[in-house]
Amino acid sequence: MEDRFEISAEALDIPALAASLTDRTAGAFTSFEGWVRDHNDGRQVDALDYEVFAPLALAEGAAILEEARRKYGINAIRAVHRQGELRIGDCAVWVGVVSAHRDEAFRACRYVVDEVKHRLPIWKKEHYRDGSAEWVNCQHLGTGHEDHAHGDGHSHGHGALHDPAPVIAEADFYARQIRLPEVGIEGQAKLKVARVLIVGAGGLGSPAGLMLAAAGVGTIGILEFDTLEASNLHRQVLYTAADVGQPKGEAAAHRLKALNPFIEVRVHQSKADADTLPDLFGQYDIVLDCTDNFATKYLLADAAVLYGKPVVQASIHRFEGQLLTIDPKSPGGCLRCLWPAPPPEGLIGNCAEVGVLGVTPGLFGTLQASEALKIILGLPGVLDRHLLIMDALTLETRRIARRKDADCPVCGAHPTIRELQRRETVVYELDAGDLTLEALARFRLVDLREAHELSQHPLPQAQHAPFSRFDAADPGFDKSRPVLLVCASGGRSNAAAQQLRAQGWQDVFSLVGGAKTLGHFFHQAAE
Ligand SMILES: [Zn+2]
Repeated sequence: MEDRFEISAEALDIPALAASLTDRTAGAFTSFEGWVRDHNDGRQVDALDYEVFAPLALAEGAAILEEARRKYGINAIRAVHRQGELRIGDCAVWVGVVSAHRDEAFRACRYVVDEVKHRLPIWKKEHYRDGSAEWVNCQHLGTGHEDHAHGDGHSHGHGALHDPAPVIAEADFYARQIRLPEVGIEGQAKLKVARVLIVGAGGLGSPAGLMLAAAGVGTIGILEFDTLEASNLHRQVLYTAADVGQPKGEAAAHRLKALNPFIEVRVHQSKADADTLPDLFGQYDIVLDCTDNFATKYLLADAAVLYGKPVVQASIHRFEGQLLTIDPKSPGGCLRCLWPAPPPEGLIGNCAEVGVLGVTPGLFGTLQASEALKIILGLPGVLDRHLLIMDALTLETRRIARRKDADCPVCGAHPTIRELQRRETVVYELDAGDLTLEALARFRLVDLREAHELSQHPLPQAQHAPFSRFDAADPGFDKSRPVLLVCASGGRSNAAAQQLRAQGWQDVFSLVGGAKTLGHFFHQAAE
């Protein structure tokens, strides 16, 4: 039996709907009827209107039924939502499920009822006995259901007693943007069914998340595993000082839900890697790359091509930012069309190393949200054929044209990258915690810091070879002993180790965390 999701302008013939699900192999049938009641929020209701954006509602409804079938393994499912004017006592939503056993039937029915309320682009207008009328999609202020344990524990339950939260109408929330002819009710419906994943809820992800939530993007995913530090607050505007020490994902979801109770926010507390990304790219329509390291940026750029989803990337270096949108369908090409491989780790410092003014990621995170909204709404001007570079100090912008490279390793004619790359498996990083004094003595210690840095955590046994003059072809030391490279925090030593290994060196390593992590050895040695 085929699953069916319908929108009906006519009153529902419930016995006929139930009869259509007759199944002699099934042991259970359950159905749900949502009725129009005569009061809401203390006001007497006479009638109501459902405004439905049908093409999107039908597609989203069909997707919900498919999810229910996959999750619960039921025999068949059918759902109908009314549109137009309804009277008191009318059935507004009907869901019927048949399955082998009652448990799956109940659970699938509940799932569909809840998802339909959350996700369908349907707006409800109530007509009151006093002659007034209001758009009131307050059903979204309810608690989540069993499958939505996203950590948002607080409830705006409409029926809850002593609820101090104001009741706001969804249509009022978006009134100013619906007024734009480029958005309208149809555009708002597109935003409601859109799913955007934000990878990294930091300096870029914070403003991006706030703007997308405020615009009404119906499902926002946050991929973030870090906890909040005080030094994040000047640019990561999703958080408050009270969130320091808390997992960022949960705090971000809480903030976005508080801003817009009509959307769903999902937290994915994991890293962006070859294991997690394939599934996540399946769950979302657009991905915002709000990370700050090249390995992840290349991984996400490759995923855009491999899974056919747009990825909007931004990066910040001091006062300058870069923006590009990779749309696999565009002739503008991907990140590897511009630069085939990432630069060695550590060559270009991240925010922690070089510093950043919070407004710079603020600007670029907002631009990333703008790109996502343009894609969802089908507006022109998506940055899919250029790279935008802007200096926040001079406000000068440059647009560099991008073209698909036929030799690109991922989107070219003969791609060599056909699946997401796993991280370099050669172990060339050493942790001071894994070293003993004897093991350390085996190495030639090379200090890559500049002369002015040496007095901090001095390494008297080390050979000094400042990174500013480092040349992998002629590094100033030989291979007669294993080499351990050290700098202030591990970035430059990592870059130098990679360059030497590229030159064929085998026994060359980088010290994770830099010179400060060796302090206890010299203390030990001095005693
Ligand atoms: Zn490419």
